[in-house]
Amino acid sequence: MTAAPPPPPSPRLVVGIDLGTTNSLAAVRAGKLPHVLRDRDGQPLVPSVVCYHPDGRVLVGREAKALRLELPDRTVFSVKRLVGRSAREVEAEATRLPYRVVAGERGLPRIAIGDARHSPEAVSARILQRVKAIAEEALAQPVQAAVITVPAWFDDAQRQATKDAAALAGIDCLRILNEPTAAALAYGIDGKKDGTVLVYDLGGGTFDVSILRIEDGVFRVLATAGDTHLGGDDFDQLLADRILAALPGAVPATRQSDPFVLQAVRAAAEGLKIRLSSANEAELALDLGPRGTARLTVTRAEFEAAIAPLVQRTLDCVQRAVKDAGLRLPAIDDVVLVGGSTRVPLVRERLRNLVGKAPHTDVDPDLAVALGAAIQADVLAGNDRSLLLLDVIPLSLGIETLGGAVQKLILRNSTIPTSVTEEFSTGVDGQTSVDLSIHQGERELAADCRLLGRFQLRGIPPMPAGLPRIAVTFLVDADGVLRVTAREHRTGVEAGIQVVPTFGLSRDEVRRMMLDSIEHAQTDYVAREAIDLRNKAEAMVRGTRKALALAELPPDQTWAVHKAVKALEALLAGAADTAALKAGCDALTEVTATIADDVISSAVTKALREEERR
Ligand code: ADP
Ligand code: MG
Repeated sequence: MTAAPPPPPSPRLVVGIDLGTTNSLAAVRAGKLPHVLRDRDGQPLVPSVVCYHPDGRVLVGREAKALRLELPDRTVFSVKRLVGRSAREVEAEATRLPYRVVAGERGLPRIAIGDARHSPEAVSARILQRVKAIAEEALAQPVQAAVITVPAWFDDAQRQATKDAAALAGIDCLRILNEPTAAALAYGIDGKKDGTVLVYDLGGGTFDVSILRIEDGVFRVLATAGDTHLGGDDFDQLLADRILAALPGAVPATRQSDPFVLQAVRAAAEGLKIRLSSANEAELALDLGPRGTARLTVTRAEFEAAIAPLVQRTLDCVQRAVKDAGLRLPAIDDVVLVGGSTRVPLVRERLRNLVGKAPHTDVDPDLAVALGAAIQADVLAGNDRSLLLLDVIPLSLGIETLGGAVQKLILRNSTIPTSVTEEFSTGVDGQTSVDLSIHQGERELAADCRLLGRFQLRGIPPMPAGLPRIAVTFLVDADGVLRVTAREHRTGVEAGIQVVPTFGLSRDEVRRMMLDSIEHAQTDYVAREAIDLRNKAEAMVRGTRKALALAELPPDQTWAVHKAVKALEALLAGAADTAALKAGCDALTEVTATIADDVISSAVTKALREEERR
C-alpha cells in the first residue's frame, strides 16, 4: 500500500502593501497585471487611523477616521511619523498631534491613551492587520507574506521598525521596498529599458521626490528630496480657514480651539478640495448646530491661488533633487505621479511646465505604490525572475578608529544589498578585547557622526599592538538593515550587532548631516589629518622602542634613536600641533633610517616572535 500523493504545493501568495502616512492598501499580482484589493464596500484605501475607544474597542480605518471628531486624544493618525524613532526625535512632531506621545522605556516613544501605552509599531500593526484582513477576504485565502513599502529616505531603524510592525500583525515581511521604486514599477517602467525617472509623491502630509536611475534592470535611487510637512492636509487647512471665516458670529479663536468644530471643518475642507479637482467651482453649507452654518462657494481659481506657494515649494524640491542627482531637467525620461494630492490639476500642470514633459497618468496615483509592491511581491514569490531591484543607503556607515576618527566602510549612495569587509588591528600591546562603535554620517570625526551602536569583541589572544587581524564586516541587507560582525583571524572569535530601532533619523536630519559634512569639510580634514598623524607617531614610538631593545646597535646610534623617540613622545604628551608632530616623526624616521634595514627588520621579527610565544 502506498500513501496518497501529497497535494501539489499551492502557489505562494505574496501581497504588496503600501503602509502610508494617510492611507494604506494592498495589491496582488495574479497573471500579468497587478490589482488592488478592495473591502466589501469596494474601497481599496484604509485610512491609516486607529481609534482606541473608551469602551475597549479598537477601530481601524474609516470608522476610526470618523471618530477623530469625537475622540481626538484617542484617535491615532500619522503614526508613520513616529515609527522607528526615539522619543526625543519625535518631540517636535508630537506637539503637532492631538494625541499624547510620551517617552517610554529605552527612550522610545509611546502613545498614551488613558493609562495604556502603545508603541508606534503596535499601532502600525493594527493598520497592517486590517489591510491583511481585507486582502484575505478579497482573495478568499490566507495571506502570510508581503512586500511593504517605505519612503526612500527611511533609515535602518525605521525599516526595521516597519518589519517589526509586520511581525506583530502576523505578516512575514519578505522585503522592504522603496516607495518611488514601487511606483516606477507600477507605471510599467520595469527596467527592460534604461532611463531616468522622476517620482513626484504628494500625499496627505508629506512630499517626496526621488530620482531613479534604471540600468540593466537595476533600480537605483540617485537622490531624494522633499518636505515632511507638506501635503494635501495643508491644502485642506487653507480651505478650512475660509470655512471658519464664513461662520457667522463668535470670535474665531474660540471656535478654532474646539476640536469638534475644527475636525468637522477639516473634513468639509477635504471634501471641497476633492470636488475642486474635477469641478471649476464647489459649494458648501456646513451645519455646525448651535454654532451656525458656514456657507461659501470656492472657485478652482481661488483654490489654486491659495495653494500656489505650496506647489511652488514642491517644485523647488524637485529642482534640488535633480541637482543632487547630478542631472539637469532635460535628462529626465519619465515623470511619475504618486499620492492622492497629485490629482489636483494645478500640481500636474506646474510639474509639467517645470520638467517640460507630461507626467504618466495611466495609473491611479494613490494606488501606484501598492501596485508596484505587488509586482515586486510576485517576483519574490518566484513567479517572475526578470526583475532585480536595488536601492541605496542614505548616509555612509563606518567604525570609530583610534583617536576618534571614523573609517567609512560603506559609502553613502551605495546600492544595497551590499557587504564590505576591512581588516583592523589593536592599538595597544596585549589587548584582548576591542570596542567597536558604529557610526553613520559624512563627517570625519566620530563625535560629529551619529552613533548607531557599540559592541565588544573579546577573547583576542594577547599580542603586540597591530598584530591581531580583525575582519570587520558591514552588511546591509536588501531591506536596508545593517549587521556588523567582527572576527579575529587566528582564534576565530566573533561578535556582532544588528542595529536596533532606537536610532531613527528623519529625512531632515539626513539632509542636515550631509550639509554639515560639506560645511565642515575643511576643518574635518584638518582634524582627521591630526588624528592620523598622532596614531602614526604613537605606532612609531612603540615600534622603535621595541626594536631598540632588541637590536644590537652601536651606543651612539642607540642614543640618537633614543633621543628622537623621547622628543616625539614629549610632543605627543603635550599639545603639539600637526606641523610639530610631523617634524618629530620625520626626525625619528631620519635617525632610524641610518640604522641598517636588516638590523631593524630582524629585530622586529624577533620581537614579534617572542610576543607570540608568550
Ligand atoms: P499618503 O501617501 O500620505 O498615505 P495618499 O497618497 O493616500 O497619502 O494621499 C492622501 C491625500 O490625497 C489626502 O490629503 C487626500 O485629501 C488627497 N486626495 C485624494 N483624492 C484627491 C483628489 N481627488 N483631489 C485632491 N486631493 C485628493
Ligand atoms: Mg503614499
